[in-house]
Amino acid sequence: MSKVLIIGAGGVGSVVIHKCCQVPEVFSEIMLASRTKSKCDAIAAQLPRSIKTAQVDADNVEELVALMKKFKPVLCINVALPYQDLTIMEACLQCGVNYLDTANYEPPDEAKFEYKWQWAYQERFKEAGLMALLGSGFDPGVTNVFCAYAQKHLFDTIRTVDILDCNAGDHGHPFATNFNPEINIREITQNGKYWEKGQWIETGPLEKSIDFDYPAAGVKKSFLLYHEEMESLVKNIKGLERIRFWMTFSDNYIKHLDVLENIGLTSIEPIDFEGRQIVPLQFLKALLPDPASLAANYTGKTAIGCVFDGEKDGKRQQVYIYNISDHAECYKEVGSQAISYTTGVPAMIGAMLMLQGKWQGAGVFNMEELDPDPFMDALNIHGLPWTITDFHGSI
Ligand code: NDP
Repeated sequence: MSKVLIIGAGGVGSVVIHKCCQVPEVFSEIMLASRTKSKCDAIAAQLPRSIKTAQVDADNVEELVALMKKFKPVLCINVALPYQDLTIMEACLQCGVNYLDTANYEPPDEAKFEYKWQWAYQERFKEAGLMALLGSGFDPGVTNVFCAYAQKHLFDTIRTVDILDCNAGDHGHPFATNFNPEINIREITQNGKYWEKGQWIETGPLEKSIDFDYPAAGVKKSFLLYHEEMESLVKNIKGLERIRFWMTFSDNYIKHLDVLENIGLTSIEPIDFEGRQIVPLQFLKALLPDPASLAANYTGKTAIGCVFDGEKDGKRQQVYIYNISDHAECYKEVGSQAISYTTGVPAMIGAMLMLQGKWQGAGVFNMEELDPDPFMDALNIHGLPWTITDFHGSI
């Protein structure tokens, strides 16, 4: 009997629960809980089997503890927002529940996501004999597993990694974000950063770009961003000399973002508005389309993967590992667009491997610290097949 509590009923939460329902032999009993219970009930009504739903404010440890004590899950899948990571980890410790998430903690009043707050839980999870798996989405998540796989099977030394994230889809709106707009815009508007020869090098926001020829999507302008998986990968991939992260944005997206930034709508500093304080970015979120609502008319593909450069058997080796997903296919299967799908499937797979005992351990883990093989096998089975090809040239 594996009871699982899923927290968060947004775009990603919906995919996670659909995918868990496809594996009833592992996920025998599921509860979906979120701030707004009606969203959980709406998702539950679309599922092929019955699940429990509940209301919970995941910022509140006591509420979480009360819910966990009542439902008694063995694992909690956190697909709410990064602001809730620490309260949910705290409740898991109090209730003896294992933990999994897809994004690292970020304080609400500072756009600075870092692992230090969650890594600080290492000893407490270890002592409790519990496992916390961090970042089991696509990036972070699958990209970390691609790195672990390359290190285990394809390279003696990996010198450089370039993570390349392309969304060549079209949702028909002039401007929308593919996952939570507040989290997404905080990520994109901060300074870029990459790691080279032991140091972090900062760039201005979206200052550096390349043209990259993506499989199934063609040549796309890709911008250097700071992305959270790099923080753990520089510690765990031995011999690494450089790691960078690139993401595609259309000219139209950049044009809108520029205007929104110039007029202050992406700011997280509260302002006075008609006698009350509002955060401009939260107001903007209320104006933008809900990412889940983009799914029905989304067409085109995503291509996310890693280009590795290094040595094998004394010779230079360059390899590209990637997944292609199709927005319309994802919609057909689970009613979601590909960004939610490519995040929700790895969350289900990480949870499944923990419940099956294939990924085991006491403490706090990043994805590349675990054996990549069962995860890579599961990606092929559960909807995110991957390809490995030789790569030629430089980025
Ligand atoms: P959404 O905004 O669509 O959904 C978030 C859900 O969390 C909503 O149901 C929301 O409730 C709920 N929630 C927010 N605050 C609370 C709270 N205090 N208590 C309980 N529930 C709460 O986001 P997404 O589904 O797009 O993203 C989910 C997570 O996935 C985010 O952390 C995001 O960063 C991460 N992500 C990771 C990726 C990866 O590849 N690793 C890629 C994309 C996303 P309500 O409906 O009431 O607002």
